[in-house]
Amino acid sequence: MKSNSDSRETRRTLEEQRMVLSERIADAEHRLGVPIEPSPDRLDLTQSRISRERSAILLAESKQLLDQIEAALRRIDDGSYGTCAACGEEIMPTRLRAIPYASLCIRCQTRQEEKVSVNL
Ligand SMILES: [Zn+2]
Repeated sequence: MKSNSDSRETRRTLEEQRMVLSERIADAEHRLGVPIEPSPDRLDLTQSRISRERSAILLAESKQLLDQIEAALRRIDDGSYGTCAACGEEIMPTRLRAIPYASLCIRCQTRQEEKVSVNL
C-alpha cells in the first residue's frame, strides 16, 4: 500500500509533466497553424516542410503522452495507480519512479511492444 505522501509526490510530478506537455502542444499547434511562407527558394521550402513534419510528430507524441499522464492522474484518484492495467500485478516502484505514468508492468509492456513491432 502506498502512503499518502508518496501519491501526493507522484501527483505533483504528473501535474508538472502535464503542464510542460500542454505548453509544448500549444506551441506545436501554433507553429502548425502558421501557413508555410511561399518562397522562391526550394531549399527554404523543404526546410519549412521538414520542420512542420517534426512539429506534427512532436505534437502527436506529446498528445499521446498527455493522455497517459491524465490517465495516471485518474488512476491515483480511483486508487488503481501502481497496478498493471493488463495483468493486475503491482508495478515495480522503481519503474514508477522512472515512468510515473506507466500503466503496465515491465512484462506486459514488453509483450505489448513485441506485438507492435510485429504489426510493423
Ligand atoms: Zn502486467
